[in-house]
Amino acid sequence: MVEIKRNSTRAVQIGAITIGFGHPIATQSMTATHTQDIVATLEQVNALHQAGAGIVRIAVDSKKDAAALQAIRAGTAANLAIDLQENYRLAVEVAPFVDKLRYNPGHLYHHEPTKPWQDKVKFIAEVAASNECALRVGVNCGSVDPAKKAKFSADDSVGPMLASAFEHCELLDTIGFTRYCVSLKDSDPMKVIDVNKRFAQSRPDVPLHLGVTEAGMPPDGIIKTRIAFEQLISRGIGDTVRVSLTVPNSRKPEEIAAAGAILADIAAGRVRSVVDYGLASLNIISCPSCSRVENEAFIDLASQVKQMTSYASQHKITIAVMGCRVNGPGETDDADLGLWCGPTHVNLKRRSRELGAFSYDAILPKLREELDRIILERA
Ligand code: SF4
Repeated sequence: MVEIKRNSTRAVQIGAITIGFGHPIATQSMTATHTQDIVATLEQVNALHQAGAGIVRIAVDSKKDAAALQAIRAGTAANLAIDLQENYRLAVEVAPFVDKLRYNPGHLYHHEPTKPWQDKVKFIAEVAASNECALRVGVNCGSVDPAKKAKFSADDSVGPMLASAFEHCELLDTIGFTRYCVSLKDSDPMKVIDVNKRFAQSRPDVPLHLGVTEAGMPPDGIIKTRIAFEQLISRGIGDTVRVSLTVPNSRKPEEIAAAGAILADIAAGRVRSVVDYGLASLNIISCPSCSRVENEAFIDLASQVKQMTSYASQHKITIAVMGCRVNGPGETDDADLGLWCGPTHVNLKRRSRELGAFSYDAILPKLREELDRIILERA
């Protein structure tokens, strides 16, 4: 297990769980049924809860959806969250039956356009406080407040998202409502990494909900999300996560399974991209392996590398062991020493420089030689 130093975010209670402040990272998902179909929605809520979801979110777009919540609440022990879409005043009707309300700063201008957004947020926060609900300020790349967007250049999508999140946090803090978390989502994992890193740098106290929107169908959707989570969670960023997958209703619990698998892999150092855990010691990462592995010997090799290099544990060196020739060559570029496995040979690299291909029997002594060389050079 890798010792990941988590950001010291505040604790935020959401029903029976708490996120932030070092609590386990909670996985969550969202129902895709018609909320007014209480039987189908409850079935899905409970399936997600059973699969391990710490929070289950339900879409509420109308008063009729809101009315269905009472029966849904009565039929499940899951911690429930809802999305307030354009009508922020629906908060009053839903808050008694859920544990968390999510609002999107980019949607607040739709209703009562002349009313300042600050008054609307105060209203939501008051409703949340009197119903023991947490809040999520959910900023989405596709629906940033147009007034905020207008202040940034057209090619800067991250700037308006950050500015919007910061000003909402500031307002909530000012009115004394601190039971909130923030999400900053985009469909591009690289932007998700960038915007969340920058947010966490300025507000390391605010718990973050991580996710890649419209990630798509498995396995691609899982891979995209994994790329973002690996880079953020390894640096201690992220307190709750959602993997959004395009799957039929009956397969929704796969989102929870995928999130759990990604979190477990990151904690074990099984990653697809080169990750800096911020350690002052040897960092050995190996990919989680998939159907692209062409030689099963890769699995043994990954653990042999760990054993053989233990003598260098006090050195801040990253070694990456990747299972295939599809992703291996590119993904090892950022490692001090990279190994990627082909059908009969293992390729050794020092950062982007290729050092040669060696048989599975010959690779370990060669790796040791190169590792010793780096240690000597840095002495
Ligand atoms: S590096 Fe290759 S084998 Fe490993 S998980 Fe990625 S695609 Fe699969």
